[in-house]
Formats: sequence, C-alpha cells, structure tokens
Amino acid sequence: MEIIIVGAGLGGLTCAIACRRFIPDAHVTVLERAPEAREVGAGIQIPPNGTAVLKQLDLLSRVLERGSVVRHVDFRRYADGRILRSMPFGEDVVEEFGVPWVIIHRQDFHQVLLDEAGRLGVEIRLNAEVTDVVFDAPEVILASGERVAGDVIVGADGLHSRIRDIVLDKPTRPQETGDLAYRATIKRTELEALNDPAIHELCAQTSVTSWLGPDKHSIFYPVRNGEEFNLVLLRPDNLDTGVRRVQGDVEEMTESYTGWDERLTKLISCVSAVTKWKLTHLPQLETWTRGPVALLGDACHPTLPYQAQGAAMAVEDGFALGKLLGLLHTSLQAVSTDEPTISPQSPLHEYILRILEVYEGIRRPRTTRTVQAAVGNRRVFHVPDGVGQVIRDFVLGYAGVTWKSDWTYGLFSGRMKRMLRHDLAGDCEREFKGVVKSLLID
Ligand SMILES: Cc1cc2nc3c(=O)[nH]c(=O)nc-3n(C[C@H](O)[C@H](O)[C@H](O)COP(=O)(O)OP(=O)(O)OC[C@H]3O[C@@H](n4cnc5c(N)ncnc54)[C@H](O)[C@@H]3O)c2cc1C
Repeated sequence: MEIIIVGAGLGGLTCAIACRRFIPDAHVTVLERAPEAREVGAGIQIPPNGTAVLKQLDLLSRVLERGSVVRHVDFRRYADGRILRSMPFGEDVVEEFGVPWVIIHRQDFHQVLLDEAGRLGVEIRLNAEVTDVVFDAPEVILASGERVAGDVIVGADGLHSRIRDIVLDKPTRPQETGDLAYRATIKRTELEALNDPAIHELCAQTSVTSWLGPDKHSIFYPVRNGEEFNLVLLRPDNLDTGVRRVQGDVEEMTESYTGWDERLTKLISCVSAVTKWKLTHLPQLETWTRGPVALLGDACHPTLPYQAQGAAMAVEDGFALGKLLGLLHTSLQAVSTDEPTISPQSPLHEYILRILEVYEGIRRPRTTRTVQAAVGNRRVFHVPDGVGQVIRDFVLGYAGVTWKSDWTYGLFSGRMKRMLRHDLAGDCEREFKGVVKSLLID
C-alpha cells in the first residue's frame, strides 16, 4: 500500500507512524511544504485521550522523557488571583484514565514523532508543497510540477488546508471565533530575576494555572523541565478580518490585562516577544473524504483551544486511519493464506474508499462534539462579573476532572470522561468487523 500524507504536523506524523506500525510493508511518504519540519509555538498539553494513543504506539515513555505530568490545574479569579479550584491531576488522572495528562514543549513532542517516523522508514520530503490532487490516478501534484502517486492520500495540512478545498471542490475558510491568542514563552531566569515569592511559588509547581475573567482568560505552565514557561492569553479579537497571525505588541498585551492579578501582570512584564493569532474554527464540514482522499486534524476540525484537544484529536485521527488501513491489510493478507475473509475480487481502491468512509463515521461525531464543547468552555470561562460568575465560581469550586475529585455528582467528571477515556482501537475494530460482514466478506 502506498500512503501519501500531506503535512508533517502532529496529526500527519502520528498517521505516518500508525500506518507503518499497522502495515509494516506499506510505503509511507509525508510531503511537507516547509523547508524544515517543526512546530510553531511553545507548550502543548496532551490530555489522556492523546497520551493513550501515544502509549499504544509505544511513544509515551519517550514523550515523558521530554515532558512532565501535570500535578494539578489551578483556576484563579482574574482580579485578585484567588484560587477558585485546585483540581488534582497527577496520580488521580492515571488512576482513572490509565495514562497521565502531560505538558511538553511542542518542538519536543514533534521531535519524538519525527524520530519515530524516521526509525520506521517513513519518507519525509521537505519543500514539497502539494498544490493539487488527481483523484482517478490517484496522485498529488507538487508546486514543482512533480507528481507523486499513492493508494491513499491524507490531507493533514492544517487549518488553512489546500487538500480540504480540493476535497470539497470549493474554497473553504475557517470561521473567525471572535477571539485571539497572544502566545509567548518566558525563561526561568527572567522570572527568577523578579525575586518575587508569589512568582517563585507559581514556577515551583508542575501545574497548569488559568486565570478566568470577563471575555478573557489565560494559561501558564512550565515546559522543558521548568527551564521555560508557556504563557497564552486569550481575549476578544481586534485583528482585521482575514489576518491570521502577526507579531504581537507587548504593550497592547500588557494593557489588555491591566487590573488582573499581580502575579499575571508580573509574568507579562517578563515577556519580550509575543505572537498574536486569530482563533478560527470549523464547527461542521460537509465531508472529510472524497475518493481515496481523507482529511485529518486541523484540516477538518480546527477548534478553539479552550480544552486542549486540537492536537489530541489530530493524533486520534492519525491513529484511527492507520489502524483501519492496518485491519484492511491484515484481512487482505488472510485472503492470500486462504482464510475466509475479504473478497479478493474487488480492487484495493474499492476497499480503501469504504475504509475512509468508516474513518469519517468514527471520527466526525466525536470531533464535532469537541469543537462545540470548546465553544461551550468559552462561555463558561469568559462569563462577565455578576450572578452568572458567582454561580460559575461556586460550581467550579466543587468540580474535578476525575470521579474521585469531582464533588458535583459527576456533572463535570462525567463530561470529561466521555472525552478523555476513549477506546479508539476498539471502535476501529468494531466498525471494521461490521464492514467486513456487510460488504466485503466472501
Ligand atoms: C493558542 C493555541 C493553543 C493550543 N493548545 C493546545 C493544547 O494544549 N493541546 C492540544 O491538543 N491542542 C492545542 N492546540 C491545537 C493544536 O495546536 C492543533 O490542533 C494541532 O497542532 C493541529 O495539528 P495538525 O497536524 O492537524 O496541523 P498542523 O500542525 O497545522 O500541521 C499542518 C502541516 O501541514 C503543512 N502544510 C500545509 N499546507 C501544505 C501543503 N499544501 N503541502 C504540504 N504541506 C503543507 C504545514 O506546513 C504543517 O507542517 C492549540 C492551538 C492554539 C492556537
């Protein structure tokens, strides 16, 4: 099987690894338009549904060598920094979900995937921008004019996906959400220079801190063993329509958070460079597949980053595609050993079309829910001061991500469980069995 993956982001690389793992004799090519395969931005949280996939690909220990387990998540009131709720994560999360919630530098996470893809013999081609797809062949056309043929083509080319436009046969633009993000990193040495006990206390923890305020919130956590810190500030968008990302203005950012907790304003005072990102999403796409082409990750379900699920869902997608294609491959191999299974009459591409439909069927409802839940989180995080905020703070004071730490009778942990504990491999196996039964078996 020849598999072409467009885009060497977290989703594309996971897909490449899963394809090689589940189909050892597949030839997997990743086409990346950038001259260098790397991640933009500083930190990333990998929630348990993401770490569970990494564990199944034998990558969790390598990710943990470079990242850290989140010990707790603290929600603070924006005005005075008072802790509204300190949710225990650490062992509680491992106990409930079997894997930890991890924070890591994006480049470190990406490097683990890149190394593994290389080790497994994935061909990664840089400076290889895909501009078109020929569905009948099937093949992709690069900006250089070169054509690369494959049985399956995966569009893992991110938020402004070219492959999405080709699959849908029209230009598609993610919707502006009305929010933007300032993203910055701060070195430990800069924070230590403040010589402030409250900042020292913040930096000493392996935890995620979030300040919640009207229309805005912010996230702060350590990466690279606490040598660097990731700071993301979310607020209403003031970028012109269509602008994706600009160099941010530290002064403007500082002004936006005037009157917030002193700890946060001190952190902001250490920022020397910031990027400003318009936040967009796609609540519902008509289709993710056309012929032998399928989309994954931000190409088909970009989301507001308000529950740390964007990359986790891209990683899940990549795993699911590899797993399903692997099941097909195993079934086809069984044919050659005369075991009753998939009919060898149909050509491979017919099976692939069916597998891609199954993939979309498994992944679309879950990712749609996730995109919608992130919008729901914005409402909760950004509630203006007043009765609503008092109620939110009261309920939050009892909420926990695990059953053990949740005192809202499962109101909160029940919702989280659906997202964080997910038997993806089992889903793929069940759906594949159905396909074999209904269509393909002799
Ligand atoms: C502020 C912020 C914070 C976030 N925090 C988290 C978090 O904590 N946890 C989490 O899970 N998610 C988080 N996310 C979301 C996460 O970053 C994305 O969902 C994820 O990185 C998407 O991965 P991807 O592989 O689908 O796409 P991308 O990472 O965008 O990769 C796409 C790749 O395709 C390449 N490409 C594009 N077009 C072409 C082409 N035509 N030909 C060849 N190559 C091409 C690009 O160069 C790129 O390398 C956050 C997002 C933001 C904005």
